[in-house]
Amino acid sequence: MTSETGWTIEDAEQLYGVSRWGAGYFRIGDNGNLHITPDPDNPSVRIDFKSVLNEIQQEGVQFPVVVRFHDILRSQVTRLNSAFADIIRECDYQGEYRGVYPIKVNQMREVVEEIVYAGKPFKYGLEAGSKAELLAALAMNTNEDSLTVLNGYKDEEFMRLALMGRRLGNRMVVVVEKYSELTLLVKTAKELGIDPIIGVRAKITAKGRGKWESSGGERAKFGLTIAEIIHAARYLKEQGMEHCLKLLHFHIGSQLTDIRSVQEAITEGARIYTELYKMGFPLDYVDVGGGLGIDYDGTASTSDSSRNYSMQEYVANIVHGMKEVCDLEDVPHPNLVSESGRAITAHHSCVVTQIVGEIKASGAGIDTSAADSEHLFVSNMRDILQSLNDSDNLQRAYNDASRYKEQAIDAFKLRVLSLEELAKIETLYWQIMEGIRNGSADAEYVPDELQDMKYSLSSQYLCNFSIFQSAADTWAIDQLLPVVPLTRMNEKPQVNCSLVDITCDSDGKIDQFAVGREITHILPLHKLNTGEPYFVGMFLTGAYQDVMGDMHNLFGRLNEVHIFSYDDDPEDFYIEEVVHGSSVKDVLTIMQYNPQAMASDVKRMIDRQVANGHIKPREGVRWTDFYEACLNGYTYLKTSK
Ligand SMILES: *Cc1c(COP(=O)(O)O)cnc(C)c1O
Repeated sequence: MTSETGWTIEDAEQLYGVSRWGAGYFRIGDNGNLHITPDPDNPSVRIDFKSVLNEIQQEGVQFPVVVRFHDILRSQVTRLNSAFADIIRECDYQGEYRGVYPIKVNQMREVVEEIVYAGKPFKYGLEAGSKAELLAALAMNTNEDSLTVLNGYKDEEFMRLALMGRRLGNRMVVVVEKYSELTLLVKTAKELGIDPIIGVRAKITAKGRGKWESSGGERAKFGLTIAEIIHAARYLKEQGMEHCLKLLHFHIGSQLTDIRSVQEAITEGARIYTELYKMGFPLDYVDVGGGLGIDYDGTASTSDSSRNYSMQEYVANIVHGMKEVCDLEDVPHPNLVSESGRAITAHHSCVVTQIVGEIKASGAGIDTSAADSEHLFVSNMRDILQSLNDSDNLQRAYNDASRYKEQAIDAFKLRVLSLEELAKIETLYWQIMEGIRNGSADAEYVPDELQDMKYSLSSQYLCNFSIFQSAADTWAIDQLLPVVPLTRMNEKPQVNCSLVDITCDSDGKIDQFAVGREITHILPLHKLNTGEPYFVGMFLTGAYQDVMGDMHNLFGRLNEVHIFSYDDDPEDFYIEEVVHGSSVKDVLTIMQYNPQAMASDVKRMIDRQVANGHIKPREGVRWTDFYEACLNGYTYLKTSK
């Protein structure tokens, strides 16, 4: 498919890299729309994102919207568990895989429910890291024989809850993060007469590379040193409870970018396991924590937003690494546990938002034709513009124009230039810059200053959403997330832009994109056509982003639609559930306001104006209703259809 401009779907693919980060779930369709294949093993099921947008509008759900594809969640659970099962079978590993999903990565009930459901055939369990998560896991983990792994700092109540779970027949593993937790657990267990399942978290020296490097190494916040682990094992023996010690845990960080850190950690962990075994502590499980990375920027490299290995390689390194050390030491292979969260949930959700405006650096501009007795600066600027065509001297034009512009501002302050003249100079300046950019587009060598101009001339597309709510990590830790248009990818994108959100915060922007195979500050998007809404999707938001949002500017949670595909109709899907986001009333209530009282106060003000005769009674009723409707309404901008 080639359009008039010679632009093809392959060009779009090259630019936006959808299949590089899409993990088989996303691709660009021949019609230029984004397509979803929720189960890559069943490629005949293919959903056009445009139909999803239509359905959302028909349901009357306002944008921005979080779209969740439950099938993708299921597929990822199956992928991970099958990867372990396959490699365990291939290399004749004697233990089993008993993975757990760490619910901190996305605690939404629907997400956890789906994962538990999809994980049933694999005895897939849950991991909790706080009391609230433990309460959720206790109620949600209904998979027989699966583990519930309990990490994080614990108090006595936490221990009691875990032991209560044991009473109910669940395999709750209390992972000891610091030594004093062990004595607390033993004391509580003895009081209640319930045998706990105990794990110990090791502080290992292998470190992840990347943004979460400090989760591992000697200064890690969590875990026992080797000496403390030996103490712990001996203490349990003294207490007659060594049979309760079942699991060795380590976690060297999230989003591990380099497979070598996985290999190092496995070797070290395996050595600790085999030595404990030989000391008379035969553990059943080795838990390798999380860290399985996502290729957010599609470069398959060790860049912070990528990783240099596949899921299969990750799993193979764990299984082979453990087997090798155990075989050398002649120790039985333990069951393997991993706590992959990011890899399970990242792909299943995205944020869909509409571009509601364009902000140009150059602004609107005014008529710049020559006027009588205009200042020399104005005519000089005009001369530069007119001589741009004999273009071998773009750099000089740039230098001159920049100098005149600076001088013009000084002249204005000194009352030498009028406001109108300054506006002309500014307008001419931006026209010159556009001319220079166009002139240098095909040049072989472009000086740095002129290259930077590409960024300063780029537009800002205003997106109806809040970075702080929907993509906290792009702001907090420079996380890169793929952003692509959902339609029109069969047209050549003509506008270089960065994205800004609707919060009153200049940090509320996205100016880091994977374009081609590079990380750039500008993303090529399409011209906005009047009367035709333009939607972009921010992808891979299912891990952490979905649940970490804050209340900056009181925007609150987004509307959500939950999509399921039909097996019998490959193009069809249905919205199984709409979860309404925050209303204005909701977010104000969280901040201790009383919306009902506010409505009565405003009504009283209106009534007073009506009594004074400043407002007609009928108008007063309209304002009262309007205020209440806004309180009940969505916090984001209302966009016309
Ligand atoms: C955060 C965390 C995880 C999840 O890590 P991912 O990189 O998202 O897979 C697993 N285990 C522990 C102990 C964690 O703190």
